[in-house]
Amino acid sequence: MVSRVIPVDPFDLVIFGGTGDLARRKILPGLYRRFLAGQMPPDSRIIGAARADLNDDSFRATVAEALAEFVPVALREPANVAAFLDRVGYVSIDAKGTGGWSDLKLRMRPNVVRAFYFSVAPALFGDLAERLHDHGIADAWSRIVVEKPFGRDLATARALNETLAKHFTEQQIYRIDHYLGKETVQNLMAVRFANILFEPLWKAQYIDHVQITVAETVDVDGRGAYYDKSGAMRDMVQNHMMQLLCLIAMEPPYHFDPDAVRDEKLKVIRALDPVTPEDIVRGQYLAGKGPDGARTGSYVEHSETPASTTESYIALKVNISNWRWKGTPFYLRTGKRLRARTSEIAITFKEPPHSIFDDAKGWRENVLVIRLQPNEGMNLMVMIKEPGPGGMRLMQVPLDMTFADALGAGAEEVPDAYERLIMDVIRGNQTLFMRGDEVEAAWAWADPVIQGWESRGDRPQGYDAGSSGPEDALMLMHRDGRRWREIKE
Ligand code: NAP
Repeated sequence: MVSRVIPVDPFDLVIFGGTGDLARRKILPGLYRRFLAGQMPPDSRIIGAARADLNDDSFRATVAEALAEFVPVALREPANVAAFLDRVGYVSIDAKGTGGWSDLKLRMRPNVVRAFYFSVAPALFGDLAERLHDHGIADAWSRIVVEKPFGRDLATARALNETLAKHFTEQQIYRIDHYLGKETVQNLMAVRFANILFEPLWKAQYIDHVQITVAETVDVDGRGAYYDKSGAMRDMVQNHMMQLLCLIAMEPPYHFDPDAVRDEKLKVIRALDPVTPEDIVRGQYLAGKGPDGARTGSYVEHSETPASTTESYIALKVNISNWRWKGTPFYLRTGKRLRARTSEIAITFKEPPHSIFDDAKGWRENVLVIRLQPNEGMNLMVMIKEPGPGGMRLMQVPLDMTFADALGAGAEEVPDAYERLIMDVIRGNQTLFMRGDEVEAAWAWADPVIQGWESRGDRPQGYDAGSSGPEDALMLMHRDGRRWREIKE
């Protein structure tokens, strides 16, 4: 099946931090793929901006290198790469300085969408917003895209929102969370709200619990100093996992419209109960062999902070106090240096109220598993009769839908989250971007949890590299008579 490409209006997209890691790995390769898909109108342009003393040609050479590194060779037909690079330019600008801004202004064309991607440290967001405004480069239809981290607590998130609000309206601000751009995550909404099948069962009466897992095999070596200021709660739970939780838990919006969807997500965040210390397990990986067989140092060695109490793993039980979810816990866990790289949401339904079958051995619940990576797709585990003459014995089988198969495409053709989201910015569709009040509400929930362990001076529990996480995380579920799903690719 060939996916439908919806054209967008011509645009000028300025990438501040165009020479940085994110631009090289995600933004520029994503734009190139959209170009290949025919979604970039011929008169659209991409302008890199950073302090480095480059010109159009030398920046194009760095973009070509990034494509060579991050786009499969089969997609890099030289004529296509050259045609893409033709649309690329560069302006040398210091976000805190005065040079380069008039050059940038001259390059901006009237009557095209202007988007400014802030792929720089958050400390520079205010400087960029102010200068774009003061130099008359941003107009009333311009959009800005800001990257995570969006604050490190409620106070800093609020300050950031206030800084941006001085020069841009909320409708112009696109706070990106690339988890929301994932095909499966959007499919979660399609499955819930475009089928009659699930929604009647989507409540505490029929759902026993929900598990959200984001497991990584990588460690923090090389970026330990940055990560140590954040930790798993700030880096993953407050933003990405919270967004996933919201999409599972929210009420049906009246329309698939930015504010309707975001209003419903906000209500979920506001309905979250405070998390008590006994419902949290924090961990730090120890030195040892990972799943790749390689031996690495411990978290403390990588973080370069001798007595660091930052967590590289967290598991927590979250309760939502509303009519739909009262009594159905959401268990969240995420960590580094774990057994396998996998992200999934598993919705475990309750057992039928009465079994008419004698075979209790094979008895299991229905589970809807939404896989974010690898192999984006969904699995619905259902009970059937075991084939053969052995009587009425039950077994659990998956009804599997792997998107790459369903779409008749290779796995690499499932669009990357960044591609989708950048095109949404150009279209002016904010549905998959976080609104300022959502971010603040998520911090208002996370802050007391973090302050709790910081004020108590809690130390995370050590866990073996290549394991499923700390022992106590198993207990978090066992004591409720439940267990985590296996972490596997
Ligand atoms: P990076 O590799 O350190 O790149 C930073 C970029 O900003 C470079 O292009 C740098 O170029 C430019 N820059 C630095 N100071 C500047 C200034 N004063 N004026 C103008 N440009 C300046 O960082 P990154 O990893 O790409 O991250 C960029 C943003 O995305 C950060 O907010 C980060 O938290 C976020 N993010 C990154 C990732 C990722 O995977 N990398 C993932 C999620 C979020 P010059 O030094 O030449 O100026």
